[in-house]
Amino acid sequence: MYLGSFVHEVLEHLYMQPAGKRNHETLKAIAAQRWEEGKWPAKIEELPELLGSLGDFKRSAFEAMTNLWALENPSMVELDHMELEIATSIDGVQLFGIVDRIASDPDGSVVISDYKTGKIPDPRFNSDDQKWFQLLLYAAMYEATTGKLAKRLEYYYLAKNTKHELEVSNEKLQVAKEVVVSVRRGIDEASASGEFSCNVTNLCNWCHYKKIGICPAHMDHN
Ligand code: SF4
Repeated sequence: MYLGSFVHEVLEHLYMQPAGKRNHETLKAIAAQRWEEGKWPAKIEELPELLGSLGDFKRSAFEAMTNLWALENPSMVELDHMELEIATSIDGVQLFGIVDRIASDPDGSVVISDYKTGKIPDPRFNSDDQKWFQLLLYAAMYEATTGKLAKRLEYYYLAKNTKHELEVSNEKLQVAKEVVVSVRRGIDEASASGEFSCNVTNLCNWCHYKKIGICPAHMDHN
């Protein structure tokens, strides 16, 4: 999470620079400045579990940032919004999100993008609908607040040097809206009854509640 936050922070400041200055030298200078000002070494070293050294963190972050140049030429890209906060309501459900970047294609159509520094979702565990849910929801929220429908969504998998794109359709937006309404309904029903059922899947092996031994579904195994 910290790696992602640091990379987002540096890239946001890179795109605040004039187009001609968005190069590797500027990136290095911004990264060094944010590293010190954000007190990142102390933040990382305070983590209860370190996944590597500070040098490993810096190397991974810098590799992810510089991979951006393989996916686009930052000097040729102008963003309409970065880290845009959207608070709105979709079919009665209150939602809040921070959108990494919104740009306009030459024909004026809206493109919503998100940086990822982790793995590309494994299609064995994540359907395409799950993978695109976050950005489809952002597109629905952006439309609800501005009246503008995004044409395209993009995930920048920076650590993997890969970009995935999806053309937005009303059908896909509708699926994302139905999911959010049904999740909200499930939370309301569970809150009213006091019954919060476990959802046991392969992903439990990565769940913190299982690790710290408080998931009822895994009590016997801890
Ligand atoms: S370990 Fe328990 S709390 Fe975590 S995802 Fe699985 S069922 Fe849910």
